Amino acid sequence: MAERPSFEPLDHESYLRFALSLARKSPPKPSNFRVGAVLVDETSNQILATGYTLELEGNTHAEQCCLRKFASMHNVSEDRVGDVLPQKTVIYTTMEPCNKRSVGNEPCVDRIFRTLQGVNGGIKTVYLGVSEPETFVGENAGRSRLEAAGVVCIHMPGLEAEILEVAKAGHADSSSQA
Ligand code: ZN
Repeated sequence: MAERPSFEPLDHESYLRFALSLARKSPPKPSNFRVGAVLVDETSNQILATGYTLELEGNTHAEQCCLRKFASMHNVSEDRVGDVLPQKTVIYTTMEPCNKRSVGNEPCVDRIFRTLQGVNGGIKTVYLGVSEPETFVGENAGRSRLEAAGVVCIHMPGLEAEILEVAKAGHADSSSQA
């Protein structure tokens, strides 16, 4: 299990920085972004799960890894994870959740939507570090779809350059190594 630091309640920047530290664990690949995510219970200020791109088997995304790991901790299938998430669950992700995936995998936006059907209402707020660049699937409508469904999306400014540098490591046009 990843180490679980503790932060002051609502210290969004520290949570986002922690998500970025997770993104750095993701293997650099030309075909995706290295993203990190942290699932948090805002009421208890507890980290529920962490994730990063390709952490789990398959072509996994950071948000997906958080949800899959939390579901498995609670012995429910990933599609029922909304039933075991606490009342005030939020997710920090270095990059806007994806709305479209190039390989027929379910987008993270749809995974978040499914949690909304859970008994406690699922993920209510997404704190994100940058919008998804248009490198792979064109303009990402992730944020607007989430907002249309009532999920609050909050852009946390300040870490964009660092987040993108980490995200793009391994890309052919990446001039720097993160
Ligand atoms: Zn995704």
